[in-house]
Amino acid sequence: MNAPAQNAAPSSRNKARLELDGLRRSFGAYNALDGIDLAIEPGEFIALLGPSGCGKSTALNCIAGLLALSGGEIRLGGGRIDQLEPEKRGFGMVFQSYALFPHMSVRKNVGFGLAMQGIKGPEADKRINDALALVRLESQADKLPGQLSGGQQQRVAIARAVVIRPPIVLMDEPLSNLDAKLRLEMRAEIRGIHDQIGSTTIYVTHDQDEALSLADRIVVMSQGHIEQIGTPQDLYQRPVNLNVADFMGFRTRIRGRVTSVSGDEAQIEVGPARLTGTMRTPLQVGDAAVLSVRPEDLVAVAGDGIPATVSSMEYRGRAFFGLAKSADGSDLYFRSDDVLPRGAATFLQPAAGRALLFKETAA
Ligand code: ATP
Repeated sequence: MNAPAQNAAPSSRNKARLELDGLRRSFGAYNALDGIDLAIEPGEFIALLGPSGCGKSTALNCIAGLLALSGGEIRLGGGRIDQLEPEKRGFGMVFQSYALFPHMSVRKNVGFGLAMQGIKGPEADKRINDALALVRLESQADKLPGQLSGGQQQRVAIARAVVIRPPIVLMDEPLSNLDAKLRLEMRAEIRGIHDQIGSTTIYVTHDQDEALSLADRIVVMSQGHIEQIGTPQDLYQRPVNLNVADFMGFRTRIRGRVTSVSGDEAQIEVGPARLTGTMRTPLQVGDAAVLSVRPEDLVAVAGDGIPATVSSMEYRGRAFFGLAKSADGSDLYFRSDDVLPRGAATFLQPAAGRALLFKETAA
């Protein structure tokens, strides 16, 4: 586990709330950020999650001061900071590409921000040692970045970001260049480091699993605006609309007409089948609705489900996962305990309590 590093503890400045108020940023006529409102409590781990191009990095760069705002305000502890130069904001940044100085040793890279702040001598040495201990790189201090693995280089970048004791650490897809196994290890390390230093972390990712496992709250973005803010459990179980549901893994959409409503559940008719789901938007009998379900929760059954024809199947250890076509040509991602041949006729039924229903809106 990580070595203790009490000296990387936050200062009182780190107890400040960050507020984004009506953040806008345009590139020419294009609004990359279209009114972002968000309050982040001190010490929170926030993930900005969304598809490529939704504005996550733009938001992070605006917070860092690397991009000017086209409108809105950023406040830290009640005071405006959006006019300040990046170095005056004093936030730590970690990028996908590590962005280390190749000709400087690990120790010099980590100490760079301290030197910029005029912190020298024993105080700088102590802080650098603490930061290296935090990321478990004490033994690599005299190497050049090129002599380290990708995971080690990213740990240097993290040490460099936290050594200045920033109130906020900003991370832009820091694990994207690492292989799958290392990503999992580093994920746990990043959360561990966050918990030890007590800074606020804002973490950009397009990876749903990463956001779910790391964040206290997830902010789902789409086309420059926020779709939903909530805890991982909120977003996983209760997406507010089809966009968020899609992004949280509810991959299959089945269209039908509501035949009955009872409590928070409704039933839709899809050809000969009746499928039940939990209403996420109000529905009435006769409404056109979309049932949204994850592949692992749409199950091949003997009958009494939506008729479908199997297109492909693959084995994933615990079960087979497949793609089938409904009579109207929709793609249905499903799970089966047995392998089904291509072209086989099957019936698919959502597992009880696992499907969501949304009102069909004009596309
Ligand atoms: P990704 O996950 O692919 O990095 P993102 O959600 O971080 O995506 P941004 O990089 O914030 O997205 O970009 C948001 C939108 O703004 C995109 O449509 C992008 O093309 C546009 N954009 C970003 N930077 C610029 C720029 N310097 N000039 C013009 N358009 C830009």
